[in-house]
Amino acid sequence: MNVVILLGAPGSGKGTIASRLAGNGIAHVSSGDLLRGAVAAKTPAGIEAKTFMDAGQLVPDTLIARMIDDYIAANTDVTTMLLDGFPRTLPQADMLDATLAARGAALTAVLLLEVPDALVIQRLSGRRLCSKCGEGYHIQNLPPKQEGICDKCGGTLITRADDNPATIQNRLAVYAQQTTPLIARYAERGLLRRVDATGEIDGIVVAAAQAIA
Ligand code: AMP
Repeated sequence: MNVVILLGAPGSGKGTIASRLAGNGIAHVSSGDLLRGAVAAKTPAGIEAKTFMDAGQLVPDTLIARMIDDYIAANTDVTTMLLDGFPRTLPQADMLDATLAARGAALTAVLLLEVPDALVIQRLSGRRLCSKCGEGYHIQNLPPKQEGICDKCGGTLITRADDNPATIQNRLAVYAQQTTPLIARYAERGLLRRVDATGEIDGIVVAAAQAIA
């Protein structure tokens, strides 16, 4: 299995881009989605994670690292895994290296989606998600055909609990403090690919696909 990490601030478009690149043996694995699934299912990990997530803080490294390791172990048919939202700290990057070595998988690229803070705040505050299928929308940038309703499945659109102004500020601060050190780490290893993620989605998807090809 080859692994590509998507790095970037909350709202930089990691999930949107990864879901557009997925298919044909390429899997989109979102640590946030894995955690939200565990919270909804009220598993022990989900119950532990919820307080951190509601505050815009990171969940403990070992908790999320174990979920990613379980995913890799259970999905041996995947040829390329797009890792969206993991790793987010230097210890998590070490844990990922250990997991990949143990499972015979290789990290082939790290895609850095570059977006200024002001744009990230605009994107996150207008973001909506389908409560049924998880499809993402934005009230200005990517509106559904009918307000509040998913184009794909007819489900109701909701705002994520952590997409409120106070939590957004926390998440950006956490990204700056805990996640940006990963940029230098992967640049040193020659794996970093920078992509300007400010334009419209189709162009960014093309640039992202070229960067990791
Ligand atoms: P996301 O959907 O990627 O924005 O993640 C939502 C929330 O889940 C984050 O604010 C964190 O609380 C938690 N989370 C997701 N990925 C990680 C991770 N790699 N490490 C720690 N916490 C995470």
